[in-house]
Amino acid sequence: MKVKNNNRPLFRDNSYLYQNSYARAQRRRLAAFVVLVLLVAAIAGVVMGIRSCSARKQSKANADQTAPLNSDAGVAADQNGDAGDAHAGESDVATDVVEKSSYKKPKLIREGHGVLIEVTDPGAIGLTVKTYDASTNATISVDKRVKKQPVTIQVSQANKVRPKVVALTFDDGPNPGETTSILKVLAAADVKATFFMLGRNVKTYPDLTRAVAEGGHQIAIHGYSHDSLAKMKPPKIESELLESVKAVKDAADVDVTWMRPPYGAVNSMVYSLLGEHKLKVALWDVDPVDYGRPGASVIASRVVKRVHPGAVVLMHDGGGDRTQTVKALKTIIKKLKKKGYRFVTIDQMYQLIGQQSD
Ligand SMILES: [Zn+2]
Repeated sequence: MKVKNNNRPLFRDNSYLYQNSYARAQRRRLAAFVVLVLLVAAIAGVVMGIRSCSARKQSKANADQTAPLNSDAGVAADQNGDAGDAHAGESDVATDVVEKSSYKKPKLIREGHGVLIEVTDPGAIGLTVKTYDASTNATISVDKRVKKQPVTIQVSQANKVRPKVVALTFDDGPNPGETTSILKVLAAADVKATFFMLGRNVKTYPDLTRAVAEGGHQIAIHGYSHDSLAKMKPPKIESELLESVKAVKDAADVDVTWMRPPYGAVNSMVYSLLGEHKLKVALWDVDPVDYGRPGASVIASRVVKRVHPGAVVLMHDGGGDRTQTVKALKTIIKKLKKKGYRFVTIDQMYQLIGQQSD
């Protein structure tokens, strides 16, 4: 019995142990279940998370795709707006579409060298038009409208002209003071010259422009504003040329065929547009720097010393006080006549070069 009694507690202990271990096992199973549930929930959460994330990415991608479509709608709205069909909401979108032109300089092919230049092939200035949404900066379209093509210029060697001829040229006029004085000096000496006029001055002084033409002189253009054409975009270059040509035509009924770019600054885009509008370029090879006002006698001696058969002399009748130039002109004409020189216009000089090469 003792043994029994000894066993009981053992049994009890065992049963206790058993009961205890049963409860533990149950708790373990419960815990395992909870862990499993949490695990499933976690996996489900992760999966859902990935799904929702990719869904978000997808919707963003869709949004990106719809952006240009919306912009296209804007273009359409703009066109509708032009047609007089006004939709308030759509026209707000339409104002965001911006067009930007970019130009590419063509290659310049130069044949010969000298100061009288004719464009024999105007080539083409490259043009790309880009449209984009101003609010998002997203590109809508890129249109390469004109492919650039090389410009060819034929440069004539006026300085190789054999007869003793010289072309006197005056820039920056017409100007009521000095242009009038110069016309008197030239008329008295029966000398013809070439005047490279600024379009804005021609517009201000049409009567003086006409007086230059009536004096038998050649009228050419020197741009409208005197800004450098080489720093302008093609539409501005073109308006500088055409406005000046029109101003001379309106004032003196003269068709201009020659141009002198301000500062002599010219590039392939300028040549292309000059060629397109049948304008030739006259540079110079004798520059006494009369605008520096070194004194009438210095201006005169510089010109007389440097003149050669076929010389193109640069002087000024506008852009500042040119009284020294007027004074120097009398001496220049007198001394060059003594040396046997004949005075021609740029057109006459160019014809002489043409006859010579024939
Ligand atoms: Zn000038």
